[in-house]
Formats: sequence, C-alpha cells, structure tokens
Amino acid sequence: DAPAAGKVSTRFDLEKETELRFEVEAGEAAEQVDLELLTGMAEVFGSELNRNKKYTFGPGSKIAVFTWQGCSCECKHPPPLSPTSPFPILDTPMLLYLNTHAALEQMRKQAERDNERGPRVMVVGPTDVGKSTVCRLLLSYAVRVGRRPTLVELDVGQSGVSVPGTVSALCIERPADVEEGFSVQAPLVYHFGSTTPGTNIKLYNKLTSRLAEVFSQRCEVNRKASVGGCIINTCGWVKGSGYQALVHCASAFEVDVVLVLDHERLYNELKRDLPHFVRVVLLPKSGGVVERSKECRRDTRDEKIREYFYGFRGVSFFPFSFEVRFSDVRIYKIGAPSIPDSCLPLGMSQDDTQLKLVPVTPGRDLTYHVLSVSSAEDGEEGSKKGIVESPVCGFIVVTFVDTQLQVMKVLSPAPRPLPRHTLLIMDIRFMDMK
Ligand code: ATP
Repeated sequence: DAPAAGKVSTRFDLEKETELRFEVEAGEAAEQVDLELLTGMAEVFGSELNRNKKYTFGPGSKIAVFTWQGCSCECKHPPPLSPTSPFPILDTPMLLYLNTHAALEQMRKQAERDNERGPRVMVVGPTDVGKSTVCRLLLSYAVRVGRRPTLVELDVGQSGVSVPGTVSALCIERPADVEEGFSVQAPLVYHFGSTTPGTNIKLYNKLTSRLAEVFSQRCEVNRKASVGGCIINTCGWVKGSGYQALVHCASAFEVDVVLVLDHERLYNELKRDLPHFVRVVLLPKSGGVVERSKECRRDTRDEKIREYFYGFRGVSFFPFSFEVRFSDVRIYKIGAPSIPDSCLPLGMSQDDTQLKLVPVTPGRDLTYHVLSVSSAEDGEEGSKKGIVESPVCGFIVVTFVDTQLQVMKVLSPAPRPLPRHTLLIMDIRFMDMK
C-alpha cells in the first residue's frame, strides 16, 4: 500500500554486520515507521524479523535493524534528511555483544555438565548507554538457544517490566516481540515508591536482597531457571550510594559476570572492589543509543503507567473507577524522614527509620498518587516488616479525595473490591487525561 502523506518509501540494501537506525518522532507530530524485510535475515535487538511481514514502530521508538549476513528491507518513513529518517551504519559493537552471549552460553553448558548454576550477570553503566538494550539482546539470544533466563529489573526510573517505582523479576520464555518487547506475564514485583534509589537506599538494597533470595529459591527447585541464570538491569546512578548499591547487588545475587558499558572508571572501581572470581568486562556502547532528556524520561514513565491501565498498541484495557472508604484501607509510606542519630530512641538506627511503615492519613494531597496494592495478607499488622518485603499484586491511582465523606475515588485495573487492603504510597503521580 502507498505510504501515508509526507512519508516516503525507501529500499535499503544492508551489508553483513551493519545496521539501519531510525527514530520515530514523539509528541504532537507523532508518526509511525513501517518496516518490511524483503530478502536475507535481520533482527531488532536480538529478535529475528520475519520476511514480508510489516512491522510498525510507534512514536518515540528508537530502532536498529541489524543483519549478520546482509539483507534488504523497505522502510516507510518521514522524508529523507529529517533527523529521524533511517540511515545505515557500518560500525556497531554487535560482534562484541554476540561474543558476550557466546561466553555466557559456554558457562550455561558447563553448569549443565557440572550440575551447577548458570551465569548471573549484572549490566551496569551511566544513563543512556544502552543497558536495557544489551539486557534484551542477551536474554533474547539465550532464549533462542533454548534457555530460560530471568530478567531482574532494578531500574526504578525506567522499568521495562512494571510501572516506575518498582523492582521486579520476570522469567523469559520467548524472545522479545519485535514491536512490543518481552511479554510480561506473571512478573514478581516489589514496591519501591520513587524513581531514584537515592530517596531510600536502604529500602532499595533490601528489595535487591529480597529479589536475590526469591530467585535463588526458584533456582533450587527449577533446574532450567538455575542453568539459564539471570541478567540484571541496573540504574544509571553509578556514584556514591548508587555505586554501593551496585556492589551490594553483586554480592546479594553472587554475580559471576559484570558487564560495564562505556565507563572505564566504573570498570576499574568494580574490578578493585568485587571478589577476584567475578569477571568484570568493559564493553563499548552502541553509537545508536539515543540520549533522553528529563522530559522524555518523564513522558516514558507516564506512558508506562498509562499502558498499565489502558493497554498497549492493539490491546485495550478498560480500567474501573470506584470509591474506596478510608476506613476500609490502610495506607503506608515506607520510610520515615531521617532524624539526627542523637535524637533516635535508644537501640534504634537510621536503617530502622528508612524501612519503617509510616501510616498515611488520607487527605487531598493524596490525589493523583500511584498506590501499590500489597499482597500481604490483611491483618498482617503484626508483621509490618512482612509488608515491606511482600510483592505487590497491582496498582491503583487516586483520582479524587472527599475528606468530608471520608472516601477516595480510584482508578483500578480490576472492579471493586480491592483484592487486599494494605496500600503503599508512591512519590509518583499520574494524571489520567483519558
Ligand atoms: P537508562 O539508564 O535510562 O535506562 P539505558 O542505558 O538502559 O538507559 P536503553 O534504554 O537501552 O539505555 O537505550 C536508550 C534508547 O536507545 C532506547 O530507546 C533504545 O531503543 C535505543 N537504542 C539502543 N541501541 C540502539 C541502536 N543501536 N540504534 C538505535 N537505537 C538504539
């Protein structure tokens, strides 16, 4: 079919080991780019393209179509010379990434032979170096050779698995969909509550340890998961407490391999501070990784929450809106504001305050906040610690608070009643413009 107005159709013949990069503009002038593989073979971030199938990439996508053997493809895109039109690239680090996959696969084979566990890999680096993309690539390659690796998502700002403000784990059973990424079914999600680990580093480390514990338990009972190992995506905060959080994660998961993207100092520091048996590898970033502005990150976060309630691409969800009485729920914030050590009650440390559940009295300022619905059994009051370390079963957004009637209106993916009554408040807000 003919390209839409203002778009052109171009055929690209790509040499082997090269890639075609393009961006799709976000925002008002939002367009989409269609792509079709005509001959040869090609992949997008580790997922193979089918020949003669039309792939559509929506606003904000930043894509690389890579070919190992050479291929030709057709692209319907905005006119040439615009900053977002496709251009072929000869120089990519894909061979190094493939070698990394091959090395990890050797480790899995050895684990299989020796009845041991497969590689646990942590991917680190500053923001915008392509950490998430390298994770996706390694996971898709692993699953393509029959492995069942686990994605551990510790990036609380830009989670690929759940809404922002969470950490999570997801068993990967098939390669990422070319257009939509990994299918997110039954992830294990924990509430963190904000978009940067710095707001409560104790909680962040606690949840990292919790995920490591649960993953290890799963490995004990599931041999395939154990051999598949895990790929851990981390935050781009690599200094101070952010760096300490990486060291903590390495030890909690007992990682075997650390992939450092494009940061020599971080590489040297980790080599110095991690046990000698941990293989720390420095990898270049791809020139295609696009830097994202603060606004762009905020929009992506908003979009992620919108997707949770309203669905993605062809799949529409229809969320529910209903009233919840204050007296029917208990709302907590994790972490009390820090107070000087000298003012702490005898025997209490700052750690305790950061992991403390502080009851929130519902008021107007609750409006637009995202709340996690804790899976902790109602009445688990005695075990507040249990609530911090319990996974969440879903999220709601407060859309209106009536202090007189003592009720709040919420947006929820499921009809009333709420499955549980312990709610954890996030710093993150979502304004429902639908
Ligand atoms: P953050 O720290 O913010 O999570 P990150 O380091 O994980 O960032 P990615 O999310 O992997 O970075 O990549 C940023 C963007 O660059 C993504 O939209 C991704 O699709 C795009 N991208 C990655 N590699 C390429 C490439 N080779 N060509 C074109 N775009 C790419």
